[in-house]
Amino acid sequence: IPPSVIVLGMAGSGKTSFVQRLTAHLHANKTPPYVINLDPACNKVPFPANVDIRDTVNYKQVMTSYGLGPNGAIITCLNLMCTRFDQVLDLIRRRSNAYSMCLLDTPGQIEAFTWSASGSIITDTLASSHPTVVIYVIDSARATNPTTFMSNMLYACSILYRTKLPFIVVFNKADIVRPTFAQKWMTDFEKFDEALEESRSSYMNNFSRSLSLVLDEFYTNLKTVCVSSATGEGMQEVVELIGKCVEEYKTEYVPMYEKVL
Ligand code: GDP
Ligand code: MG
Repeated sequence: IPPSVIVLGMAGSGKTSFVQRLTAHLHANKTPPYVINLDPACNKVPFPANVDIRDTVNYKQVMTSYGLGPNGAIITCLNLMCTRFDQVLDLIRRRSNAYSMCLLDTPGQIEAFTWSASGSIITDTLASSHPTVVIYVIDSARATNPTTFMSNMLYACSILYRTKLPFIVVFNKADIVRPTFAQKWMTDFEKFDEALEESRSSYMNNFSRSLSLVLDEFYTNLKTVCVSSATGEGMQEVVELIGKCVEEYKTEYVPMYEKVL
């Protein structure tokens, strides 16, 4: 079975645009993907979705009939979808010869997927069945703020910690800001330290130093790529990194999973 690629990231980081652009790139390469939309609340899906959560559950109706707010309704839709995910897996398996990979777009608000039971169940269902990769999308324009950058990296770290799956960080919106600054910060702590505001308390200084020591190990093994979902820059590099992650899944994830069983 071809690999599954779960696309995560903060609201507005460009997950949906990224999936759209990567899908177009894969079609142009004559290696079309199987695309799944797991965002029940989006108005329009800008890519051809093979499976769309909105065909299974009606977000607005879930809100009114269960008396839920927007976030509760998203979680409930995911839960309802989750109960039928075995059928989705069947669909993926049945069409596996026709596709190079399965792309999954997730709800705008990241925690709806990363901190929900159904998000975990969907991730584990995929990962225990075939190679699965996590792509974490970062809005480079916003990450120029060192504090935002650090929070984003800690979030990425926490997802890696929870899923233990091969992981790619995508610096999106490279057409707005060159994300090279981010890669510099990740390889040279001094550069990051300089970027932090000078008027910080010594507590924040020490805290940031300790955090970057923690993240150092995370950074050294991390696969990163600069892309623009607007221009299509970097998409082939993403495809190559996914290939590397599939190898990593086979050598590291499969033995780990067998041990648990
Ligand atoms: P999502 O909430 O993570 O799915 O984010 P969307 O894909 O809906 O994108 C949020 C906004 O960022 C939209 O207005 C997009 O047009 C814009 N956007 C996404 N990717 C890029 C990019 O690479 N470059 C630029 N300039 N804008 C982008
Ligand atoms: Mg989206």
